[in-house]
Amino acid sequence: MNSWCGGICRVRRAACSTGSDAADGVKKIVAHPEIWTAERPSRWPEAPRNMSVTAVSEIEACPRRWALRHADYPKLWGGYGYPPRVHMGALLGAMTHLALETIIREFIRTGCPSVKDATAVSVMRSLGGYTQVLDNCIDRVISRLQVNPRAQRHLEFSTRFLRARIPRVRTQVQAMLSRTRLEGRSRRHGRSSGFTTPLVTGTYAELEVSAKRIGWKGKLDLLAISPEACEIIDFKTGAPSDVHRFQIEVYSLLWTLDEERNPQGRSADRLILAYDNGQVEVSVPSPDRCKALEQELVERRAGARASVAQRPPEAKPDPVHCRSCQVRHLCDEYWASEVVRTKRYDETRKMHFGDCEVTIAARHGPSSWDARIERPWRGLHAVVRTTSEELEVGDRLRLLDGALLLDEEDPGQPWVITLGMMSEVFKVSRRTSSND
Ligand code: SF4
Repeated sequence: MNSWCGGICRVRRAACSTGSDAADGVKKIVAHPEIWTAERPSRWPEAPRNMSVTAVSEIEACPRRWALRHADYPKLWGGYGYPPRVHMGALLGAMTHLALETIIREFIRTGCPSVKDATAVSVMRSLGGYTQVLDNCIDRVISRLQVNPRAQRHLEFSTRFLRARIPRVRTQVQAMLSRTRLEGRSRRHGRSSGFTTPLVTGTYAELEVSAKRIGWKGKLDLLAISPEACEIIDFKTGAPSDVHRFQIEVYSLLWTLDEERNPQGRSADRLILAYDNGQVEVSVPSPDRCKALEQELVERRAGARASVAQRPPEAKPDPVHCRSCQVRHLCDEYWASEVVRTKRYDETRKMHFGDCEVTIAARHGPSSWDARIERPWRGLHAVVRTTSEELEVGDRLRLLDGALLLDEEDPGQPWVITLGMMSEVFKVSRRTSSND
């Protein structure tokens, strides 16, 4: 086990334009951290009491990743878990979902049955039109990022990225809405997540359902209840997948088992996955399938809870999961495994990107440093190119998503590792390391 030292958000540095000096002379990095110290949480999180499809999938893929992401890091920020890394695809998905939610809520509130109804134009006008809705959603997505210290460097780029995609998202949202029918529902409005009373005829957006008996919960994008039918609609921005089918089946079961919102145990009649290029109707689970599904959920919950109760939870290095892991700089098992050698080839830039642990040996130039590679190509030398002023000779660093360039003609030449906007640098500060 490594012994880690140093505060996670404290780095002794002479100059930092965005930090503030503490009384002890230690620079506190409060925003735009160029370098953070990689440090495990002091306490591992408890296993989730109420399981969700997302949580169980994440735990099964790698219990350590779930635990690192959900632990407390009070020295780093006041938010929940480890500050998430900015991911443009996720921001785009959040913007699309928010826009759908905003418009559907307004349709429900005003009793407008669909975008094809005569009243839809005035509803959209009252919201300022699609572009205005999307603009507002971008502001909301970006304002969430503003409290995330890991996102500070990306605020401007993220805003520009999302605004440039308004026309595309607008088309997606219009396509999804054009196939969503709310007719025949009585008016019902409001954020339904907190609803704990029996639900009556109406349409509910972002509805949390909970099957307490088996310890599972989920959030339905849309539940439409009428005397004749009960539909669950889930909006999806990615390509159709079996995971989506499984998820909506689970939602259907959780709705049936929700004793507070659905005490009569009414089943859904239709399950719809709404994509921007069409809808997929998923068969409602039969009674036998419901029984088997319930059993599966009970077992998977128990397995997931047991695996995150271990101290530390097991790490499962895997090229696919580690590549997108937001906390891999905190995971020694990843850095000690062969998986760290996995590189990603960017077709557009014709470059390989990957992770590397290095020790800074000397200054090479005004914005470059000579370094010794520690992992995964131990013993090789590199030139680290960065505009950061915060490196020092002797620093041991974990570099994430650097552009890796090796002179194929002359393998004796040092690697060139260029740290760009999406790269991250974490200082490894250890007294001892059993993995070296
Ligand atoms: S780096 Fe890989 S093994 Fe480590 S926590 Fe992340 S997913 Fe798990």
